[in-house]
Amino acid sequence: MELLRLPEPPWDVPGAFDPINAQLDLMTTLDRIIWMVRAFAPKLTLASSFGAEDMVLLDMWIQSGAAPIDVFCLDTGLLFPQTYDLIDEVQKKYGIQVHRATPKLDVSQQALQLGTNLWERDPDTCCRLRKVDPLSRHLVGYQAWMTGIRRDQTVHRRHAPLIGWDSAHNLVKANPLAPWTYTDVFDYLERHRVPFNPLHLQGYPSIGCQPCTQPVIDDHDPRSGRWQGKEKTECGLHL
Ligand code: SF4
Repeated sequence: MELLRLPEPPWDVPGAFDPINAQLDLMTTLDRIIWMVRAFAPKLTLASSFGAEDMVLLDMWIQSGAAPIDVFCLDTGLLFPQTYDLIDEVQKKYGIQVHRATPKLDVSQQALQLGTNLWERDPDTCCRLRKVDPLSRHLVGYQAWMTGIRRDQTVHRRHAPLIGWDSAHNLVKANPLAPWTYTDVFDYLERHRVPFNPLHLQGYPSIGCQPCTQPVIDDHDPRSGRWQGKEKTECGLHL
């Protein structure tokens, strides 16, 4: 595969990645991932929350035979037991070590300093302390990060480019699955027998921290189980 050329810096200007996005759009997802890894490894880190999309991304990267890269998850200390089990399973199956980016305070320390169940009273602060700040710390020193976000997940993700500049963290953000649908994701998982969180089969299309994730009723928005009863729809990682 011909190595597409990255645009000349500066990259933090509007439209800097438009030409390359047009070319990436014509590629298969697997080729896109291979290109992204070649372009940025080893200064590329793959974010995984071990949701269905992230399992596709992880499996495609492994199957592509592309270079080893850092894989990390934001371990809030409040994930479902099934998610922790899946992390262990993935490490064994793929022979990788997942880096766990953790908050400065564990859950008990947070309760002592800021009161119990902060997620009920102030989920934005809780997400900042347990997800957003650890993400910022983790990304220091990398040139790019790769995520499994899809455009049809939320209104905030509707215009997610395949590759763009993440001004919040000052590095490139690559979203090779951006055009995928929920059906595409589960077709891939089934076809390639990729392990996934069993909660997806119990009414949880989107899985985050245990206290803030409920099953979704019937045909409701797949992310309606996150922060139910609150205006919040994003933890702040992808805003
Ligand atoms: S999802 Fe809930 S528990 Fe997890 S960090 Fe955010 S507010 Fe806290």
